[in-house]
Amino acid sequence: MSIAANLSAIKGEVERLNVKLIAISKTKPASDILTAYEAGQRVFGENNVQELIEKYEELPKDIEWHLVGHLQSNKVKYIAPFISLIHSVDSLKLLVEINKQALKNNRVIDCLLQVYIADEDTKYGLDFAEAIELLRDPEFQELKNIRIVGVMGIATNTDNQKMIEDEFYELNTFFHGLKQSFFRKDEAFKEISMGMSGDYKLAIDQGSTMIRVGSTIFGTRSDK
Ligand SMILES: *Cc1c(COP(=O)(O)O)cnc(C)c1O
Repeated sequence: MSIAANLSAIKGEVERLNVKLIAISKTKPASDILTAYEAGQRVFGENNVQELIEKYEELPKDIEWHLVGHLQSNKVKYIAPFISLIHSVDSLKLLVEINKQALKNNRVIDCLLQVYIADEDTKYGLDFAEAIELLRDPEFQELKNIRIVGVMGIATNTDNQKMIEDEFYELNTFFHGLKQSFFRKDEAFKEISMGMSGDYKLAIDQGSTMIRVGSTIFGTRSDK
């Protein structure tokens, strides 16, 4: 199937559910992104800063770029002028740097807290206690040039559907707990970024508001 056909199939499934589709174009050439763009897609996600900058410079300026991969503090300055949403905030230190660079660019940058839900050894993401600790930190409350708009999670890479469902359920429950405790009056805090090519249907059933889909749109990557 073509990129345009893949896109329209997924959009048909998710748009009426009010779920935002982030097309994850990492490792794919700019020409593939342009094909998706011409088919109407405007929101793309990358996981590597260098690759993101190159694509940003080459491609139409009305694309909304999201960063979904781990972000090192020393690279924030390169994306701060244009990034729409950073899905992968996993420390207060990183958030302080994003705030600093956002201020330099006279912007407020939207961020998601990446929360660790998988039953896997991964290096990235906050556990529930760490996320709460971050939100309680007085230093966090002084940051005026970032806005936390929700949470992001990656489920375990497994065929066990029940397990994936349980992880997404946990993230949804945690999101609502944070909403009650820290963001009750903040309408911007409303996003749950969960679901990839293999599990976005389960994620939507568990309350996802944003799915990050790569290979189902662009074809398999050599990184897998
Ligand atoms: C690569 C990636 C995706 C998309 O993965 P697919 O399985 O190709 O849909 C989603 N989220 C993150 C964080 C990724 O790194």
